[in-house]
Amino acid sequence: MIDMRGAFEEKDFLEKLEVFKREKKHNIFVEPFSNFTNTKCPYCEVDLLNNLDSREIEATIDHYRPKKYYPRIKSVYQNYILMCNDCNNAYKGNEFLIYKDNEVYKQTEQVVNRSDIEAEETLIVNPIKDNIFDIFILKFKYTNKGKTLELYPRYTENDNKYFYLKAQETIKLFALGNCEDMDNSRDANRCRIILLKQHFNNFYGFLEALKKEDFAKASQIRKEKKLNNYGFMKFIKQKLFKIEV
Ligand SMILES: [Zn+2]
Repeated sequence: MIDMRGAFEEKDFLEKLEVFKREKKHNIFVEPFSNFTNTKCPYCEVDLLNNLDSREIEATIDHYRPKKYYPRIKSVYQNYILMCNDCNNAYKGNEFLIYKDNEVYKQTEQVVNRSDIEAEETLIVNPIKDNIFDIFILKFKYTNKGKTLELYPRYTENDNKYFYLKAQETIKLFALGNCEDMDNSRDANRCRIILLKQHFNNFYGFLEALKKEDFAKASQIRKEKKLNNYGFMKFIKQKLFKIEV
């Protein structure tokens, strides 16, 4: 997950979005977003330039709040977010979840009033708005699907029910954790497991080197694998991770 707060405040970003507003061309939107995320999907951190296990990865524009339920803001670009085609189409789709009466509520009807939209407490993380470090930690795990790097709620239900549910629902929606429960007969699921294993392999050697205080090796791995380009690195710097292997 990539922290994208501040993206809309960047001058270059805004200028490009103004052009996008006029010309409505997919590429004009994708460029500033993918520059900001080092060409990664902000949710699953797949590389948007390379194929994964011969599955083509495509950068798509998602309506964070689906136009089906939020038709009034369908052209408002602050509602748009870059995603890989798997996160957007195979997982998120038209689903939208909010926190209502201390429970998970699945949006089923249209919301048109702007103040009602603004008052909503959403249960799908928006990395442009939310502080993702309040919501998730990383977990390096041995699972029946192999060694994976997964997202996990930072807080328990008792500590902070809203953040806990927001983490759980986002992880479930995008299949960014609980790999063990995933049915890998689905092509998209199989790919997600491959990706989460790839993330594990990219970062584990770096952490092992740090643990052994072999800083030269850690730095070499960090550079070789371009780990600074990942949002995961910010979690690691803040010690928001657990190793369960
Ligand atoms: Zn993705």
